[in-house]
Amino acid sequence: MIARRIINAYGTNTRLSGGLMAPEVVAAMAQAAQSCFEMQDVQAAASRAIVEATGAEAGIVTAGAAAALMLGAAACMARLDPAAMNRLPDTDGLPNEFIVSRSQRNMYDRSLRVAGGQIVEVGIPDRLSGPGVRDASAGEIAEAMTPRTAAVFHLAGVDAEPPLDDLVRVAHARGIPVLVDAAAQLPPASNLRRFIDQGADLVCFSGGKAIGGPQASGILCGRQDLVSSALVQMLDLDLPEPQFVAPPEFAPLNQLRFLPHHGIGRVAKVGKEEVAGLIAALRRFVAEEPATRTARWNARLAVLDVPGAVLVPDGAKPGLPLLELRFADRAAAERAEAMLRARDPAVHVDASRIRRGVLAVNPIALDDADLPELAAALRAVLPAA
Ligand SMILES: *Cc1c(COP(=O)(O)O)cnc(C)c1O
Repeated sequence: MIARRIINAYGTNTRLSGGLMAPEVVAAMAQAAQSCFEMQDVQAAASRAIVEATGAEAGIVTAGAAAALMLGAAACMARLDPAAMNRLPDTDGLPNEFIVSRSQRNMYDRSLRVAGGQIVEVGIPDRLSGPGVRDASAGEIAEAMTPRTAAVFHLAGVDAEPPLDDLVRVAHARGIPVLVDAAAQLPPASNLRRFIDQGADLVCFSGGKAIGGPQASGILCGRQDLVSSALVQMLDLDLPEPQFVAPPEFAPLNQLRFLPHHGIGRVAKVGKEEVAGLIAALRRFVAEEPATRTARWNARLAVLDVPGAVLVPDGAKPGLPLLELRFADRAAAERAEAMLRARDPAVHVDASRIRRGVLAVNPIALDDADLPELAAALRAVLPAA
């Protein structure tokens, strides 16, 4: 063990090292590590697997969804202009504005700024005020579009406003791409296709969350020209220019006026191991019936059998069950949470609803071998109903 092990009943949080990989995913990574390849061929294999799973024109594996966002932003600004790629993150003379509904601002949108983008906030998230009902409208988003607009940015989610369909309509009317952060929108597995079907030009997913791939992997998929731009801005280009030949999956790269330097994504490279692991995990995720996956998670929570705990569906992720521990108030929940973390091994539970006095067990990153220990820990903090 490289560090003190924890029992992860929180979820696939990066802070807690993500989830666990299936043996066949680990095997795919180990096998990839035993040979060498040209990386554009490795990414071409990724593209074929991602296209099959998402219905997008093309896809690449990135160093996480946050890196996918950075690369997607870079692609929206530089397109297929190698001179623009060489300038990033300096954006003089380039469209560099990303229009976003103010209610969708979040800590991951920094990725857009890392690439050189500027965030243009629109609307008033009045529905979050208590009496209010309104949020940014598609009309307000359209009003913010100028020749400096690089893309409309959308954080996917059940409560996301304005709806993606409306954003796509107003953006495409002006020839502006829509970039979607769907990092944590799985399950349901149907979301792999949903945002592409709705017309999004680029969609980002985490590889290390529900897909069950390597923790430091992600997916960027969408339009072939934009995905190809993102890829060339990540690849190592330390080769004589005539030697660079893009595989058919990234054919637009063979039209570049010249080969750019190492791009902005070179700081977030992915290895062959991550690509191989992500492909194996994605195939596995798509092959498993959603009902089978839910049954597997339900069975894991059923083993816990904690008196007073309540099985509920996760409101944001259809198919994911949670086991809720309900306390009298926030202070009581905080005391219980601290007691769980003080154990050896430390137990981390989902504390995102602790303001309401609720802790939850998320089955997704749990090791079955830890269930008896976890059950004992929960019984110790939860007064039987
Ligand atoms: C997790 C997450 C990310 C980052 O994903 P990584 O794969 O960890 O880089 C980005 N956006 C949202 C909304 C997320 O939940």
